[in-house]
Amino acid sequence: MRIQIYGAGMAGSYLYELLSQRGYDVRIYDVRSKPDCRCAWGIAYTEAKELYSKVGVNLDDYVLAKPKEIVINDKIVLRNKNLYIFDRKRLLEDLWKDFELEKGDGDVVVDATGCARAILPKIENDAIYCTVQYIERHNLDENIYVQMRKTGYAWAFPLGDRWHIGAGDLTYERALELIDQLRRVYDIPEVERVCECRAKIRMLPPSKCKPIVHGNVYGVGEAIGCVSGGGEGNAPSLRCAYLFYECLEAGELHDYEKRVLEEFWWIEEEHKFLYAVQNDKKLTALRLLPKVVSIESKRSVHQSVRDIKNLLNLLR
Ligand SMILES: Cc1cc2nc3c(=O)[nH]c(=O)nc-3n(C[C@H](O)[C@H](O)[C@H](O)COP(=O)(O)OP(=O)(O)OC[C@H]3O[C@@H](n4cnc5c(N)ncnc54)[C@H](O)[C@@H]3O)c2cc1C
Repeated sequence: MRIQIYGAGMAGSYLYELLSQRGYDVRIYDVRSKPDCRCAWGIAYTEAKELYSKVGVNLDDYVLAKPKEIVINDKIVLRNKNLYIFDRKRLLEDLWKDFELEKGDGDVVVDATGCARAILPKIENDAIYCTVQYIERHNLDENIYVQMRKTGYAWAFPLGDRWHIGAGDLTYERALELIDQLRRVYDIPEVERVCECRAKIRMLPPSKCKPIVHGNVYGVGEAIGCVSGGGEGNAPSLRCAYLFYECLEAGELHDYEKRVLEEFWWIEEEHKFLYAVQNDKKLTALRLLPKVVSIESKRSVHQSVRDIKNLLNLLR
C-alpha cells in the first residue's frame, strides 16, 4: 500500500516519520520548499514530548522557554503548568532532512495541508481567522502576555533573546488593533522587527470539518479542525497524526472519523464555550465553564472557575 501525504507541517512531517520508520511505502509533498514560519511556538509539553519520542525526537532539544506566568489583560495572572515555547521551525527543518518532497498517486492519501485543506472538499461555513506576527527584541520578564477580547487575542511570547508578538482575530485589521492594545497595556514599544508575517488559522472543531474522510483521502490535523478554542493546534495535530497511524496499523481506517471525534471531545467543548461567549449566551457559557477550566488546567495553564469568570467580566 502506498501512502501519499500532502502537507509537511506539524502533522504531515510527524506522520511521515511514524510511517517511514515502520517500513510503510510513504511519500510527502508540500507547496513550500522549506518549512513555513520563522516563529517559535507554544506547545503542550507533556503530550508533545511523548508523541515525538515515538519517532526518536527529543522535544527538549527544541525548547526555548517555559514562561512562569500567563498575564491576561494586565489583570489576571495564571500559573503556567505545561505550555512550553519551542523552536518549531528548527524542529521542522530537522524533520525535513529525512525526505525529498514528492507527489504521486497513493492508495491512501492524507490531507495534512492545515488551514488550506487543499485535498478534502471545502467546508461550508468555514471559520478562518487572520493572524499577524512579528519577531522583535525586548527586555521583558519571561512571561506570556495576552490582550484578549471576545473574538481574538494578541500575545507576546518569549523566545530566549527575542519576543514573538502577534494577534489573531476575525480580520487582519482587528488583529492589528489588538497588537496596538497589547503594546499600550504592557508598554511594549514598536521597535525594529526581526521578521514579520501573516497567516490564517481554522477555528472550527472536527465535527464541523466534515468530511473528515472522503473516498481514499483522510484529513489529519488542522485540515479537520484539530485546534482548541484557544488556538492550540500543535500538539492536537501530532495526536491526530498518531491516531491515523494507529488506525492504519490496526487495519481500522474505517473507524478513523469516529476515533477523531471521540479523541477531540475536549476541542468540541472548548468551541461550544467560545461560541457561547462570543454570542452572549451566558447560561450556556456558565454551564460549560467548569469543564473548560478543568480541561485547560490539565493540559496547559492552572486556572480556576473564578479566574475565568473574572476574565469573562473583563471581556464584556
Ligand atoms: C499565528 C499563529 C500562531 C499559532 N500559535 C500556536 C501556538 O502557540 N500553539 C499551538 O499549539 N498552535 C498554534 N497555532 C496553530 C498551529 O500552528 C496549527 O494548528 C498547526 O500547525 C497545525 O498543524 P498541521 O500540520 O495541521 O498544519 P500546518 O502545520 O499548518 O502544515 C500545513 C502544511 O501544508 C502545506 N500546504 C498547504 N497547501 C498545500 C498544498 N496544496 N499541497 C501541499 N502542501 C500544502 C503548508 O505549506 C504547510 O507546510 C498557531 C497558528 C497561527 C496561524
